[in-house]
Amino acid sequence: MTASASHRPADLPERIRHFIGGEQVDSLSGATFEVLDPATNLSYGTAAAGQAEDVDRAVLAARNAFTDGPWPGLEARARARILYRIGDAIEAREQRLAELESFDTGLPITQAKGQAKRAAENFRFFGDLIVSLHDESYSVPGKQLNYVLRKPTGVAGLITPWNTPFMLESWKLAPALASGCTVVLKPAEFTPLSAGLWPEILADAGLPEGVFNLVNGIGEEAGQALVDHPSVPLISFTGETSTGQLIMQRSAAHLKGLSMELGGKSPVVVFADADLDAALDSAVFGVFSLNGERCTAGSRVLVERARYEEFAARFAERAKNVVVGPPHDPATEVGALVHPEHYRRVLGYVELGRTEATLLAGGSRPDHLPEGNYLTPTVFADVKPDARIFQEEIFGPVVALTPFDTEAEAIALANDVRYGLAGYVWTSDLKRGHRVAGSIDAGMVWLNSHNVRDLRTPFGGVKSSGVGHEGGWRSIDFYAPEHIVHVALGDVPTPRFGSKELPK
Ligand code: NAD
Repeated sequence: MTASASHRPADLPERIRHFIGGEQVDSLSGATFEVLDPATNLSYGTAAAGQAEDVDRAVLAARNAFTDGPWPGLEARARARILYRIGDAIEAREQRLAELESFDTGLPITQAKGQAKRAAENFRFFGDLIVSLHDESYSVPGKQLNYVLRKPTGVAGLITPWNTPFMLESWKLAPALASGCTVVLKPAEFTPLSAGLWPEILADAGLPEGVFNLVNGIGEEAGQALVDHPSVPLISFTGETSTGQLIMQRSAAHLKGLSMELGGKSPVVVFADADLDAALDSAVFGVFSLNGERCTAGSRVLVERARYEEFAARFAERAKNVVVGPPHDPATEVGALVHPEHYRRVLGYVELGRTEATLLAGGSRPDHLPEGNYLTPTVFADVKPDARIFQEEIFGPVVALTPFDTEAEAIALANDVRYGLAGYVWTSDLKRGHRVAGSIDAGMVWLNSHNVRDLRTPFGGVKSSGVGHEGGWRSIDFYAPEHIVHVALGDVPTPRFGSKELPK
């Protein structure tokens, strides 16, 4: 081992609190919950556990900022200037953010470092977008001019997961704020630490008080209270499919606008004519980066039989060489899984996999890391499509390899799961590449590449992976929907009800 198992960042807050109406506050009831360091599973502190009355306070602050404050009515340029400053303020805290994120989530420090740049880019991108947005008009010459206006909806409830907490929060905050909404954010309870940076970042950038509110807490308490609140017309949620289903049911009572970014079990399809070295690098990175706790992970690798044995052997070799270590060690490639509860769930799948398929690599705790949520990168081969490790999202460093014989079989296998978030296709045949990319039931497919995003493009899943797409103007559509104004350019013929005239 090159570094000690745990590394506590300096100056951790004594207690992680809510931020409501411009103030750091505890829960009205005083309730708290313990937060664990994934490298040791020891508690490093407590966080305020928001209850319905705390959510109510936060929604009231956001509601007041929306109805009485300047934010929704500011010119796009003025909002964009603040968004750019938020981007700069995030980047200025790159080191601190990486340190807190890596400590709290167990992500390797080198991978946590990328998160500040991505979060900052989200703000800059939506700043650019909001000033350049042009809405449509429809002319009926001489008769009508119809034009689109946009109005921010009100208070948006943002509920986020623990895998890349700060970056995913920024992915919702940036378009919500760009659109003129005010917000209540409920971060994941496993990882509340980095969200504590938002109040300072947003205040430094000049965001008016009350526009941003943060309530920490358990999903079934604080999250549910936000979903149930009648003054929150929008919920943007990222998390598990089963939680998403529950939120959709409960939101029906108020017919809330919903954006649901849910789980995945994405295929990587490797044809025999692919650049195998590049496909291998990409597939290994795609499933083991971010500890495998990645919604778009390519967790099922389908390989054409002619190259299957070779590819599987090389995959296993690489997996065995992946460096598992403490999250703060710069040499670490796979760190500690986020929480013992999640770790047990992933280990359960590993045990199941031993009965369903052939274990080629990993599958156990590394010898040099006796405590904490560590798992060696795990490769199962010859996984049958009806195996649970083929069908279910594991959300850890575990991959299923399956051979195929024909293009049709590859497509059928790729689509033979309930999820449809991402897909990756590797081939040197241009025609086939496009054919297969278009045939995979997924919101997003990459051809000869791992997940590299362009912020203008649609983001989201189909089937059990999500409802609604964000990305570019689609995010603005969610937070500030279109509103059409019809203008008559002349007299409009109107039947004269009650005039006793017969229709002509
Ligand atoms: P989760 O569903 O357990 O929790 C997500 C958030 O929902 C947390 O803040 C949690 O407190 C809250 N929550 C839980 N129960 C709730 C309830 N009843 N009402 C309201 N809120 C509630 O998900 P997780 O374990 O934190 O995250 C992992 C999942 O997220 C994986 O399935 C992964 O694929 C998915 N994910 C999807 C994307 C995407 O863009 N599609 C991105 C990242 C993660």
